[in-house]
Amino acid sequence: MEIINKVHELKNILTYKYTNKKIGFVATMGYLHEGHLSLIRQAKIENDIVIVSIFVNPTQFSPGEDFEKYPRDIKRDSQLAKTSGANILFCPDTTEMYPVGSSTYVEIEGIITKKLCGKSRPSHFKGVTTILTMLFNIIKPDNAYFGQKDAQQCAVIKKMVRDLFIDVNIQVCPIYREIDGLAMSSRNIFLNEEERCQATVLNLSLKEIERLYLSGEKDVIILKSELNRLLSSAPLANIDYIEIVDNETLEDISIVNSPTLVAIAVNFRNTRLLDNIILK
Ligand code: AMP
Repeated sequence: MEIINKVHELKNILTYKYTNKKIGFVATMGYLHEGHLSLIRQAKIENDIVIVSIFVNPTQFSPGEDFEKYPRDIKRDSQLAKTSGANILFCPDTTEMYPVGSSTYVEIEGIITKKLCGKSRPSHFKGVTTILTMLFNIIKPDNAYFGQKDAQQCAVIKKMVRDLFIDVNIQVCPIYREIDGLAMSSRNIFLNEEERCQATVLNLSLKEIERLYLSGEKDVIILKSELNRLLSSAPLANIDYIEIVDNETLEDISIVNSPTLVAIAVNFRNTRLLDNIILK
């Protein structure tokens, strides 16, 4: 596996060494876990080469968020990326991606970026779509792999790719979980023992809502209120949002009758956890 820090080196190697190869791309912020690795493995199956990026993107964090303390361990990450099948690890520093004078952003307007995570993190998706446009332009992947854990991010990226006619297939991979159901996340290491224990409430509550739906309950108000009750049973859980929306547009619905996203964000002290399920 080659480790590359510079955009021009990556472009060169893609032009001279990997011409006409089918490229799979996995964008990450590092501190890799099995969730990330599942995307790399899937990319390996479906492409000739796999490029993984590790970049803690400052523009998707607001002042006061955890940009500075976001966990970083590039040595461990390189080993994991390599054993999972990555051919190239691209880890630029901030000035490489945002050199002095850089002032262009890609912003998807409309409710898709304004609700759910966009409500408490108003500039987050602007940062995400900007960095991904850059990475797509540099790498020109055939397939790019994202995790269903960040369901809103997947919906936003699919829309961006459609709206801007970007030539890449967006592949959404299932949520990879710990044995007790907690969705894997680089931020889970910030949970103390008690919080980690109570964090299982996210997945358990979503599974209960799915059971309720499958037994015939389709009213969004009732499902939301039950989800609120279930999540509130964990004393340390501070609910940021509970949303039940159309899975593609993220528009509000009142009755579940097309693929529907049930998405939650819950804070445990300063650690923000996301989880979701799709009701079909
Ligand atoms: P991040 O490093 O958190 O930006 O995540 C990089 C990619 O990995 C994103 O597409 C995430 O959705 C995906 N990802 C993160 N956690 C998981 C997980 N538990 N299961 C599957 N994919 C994940």
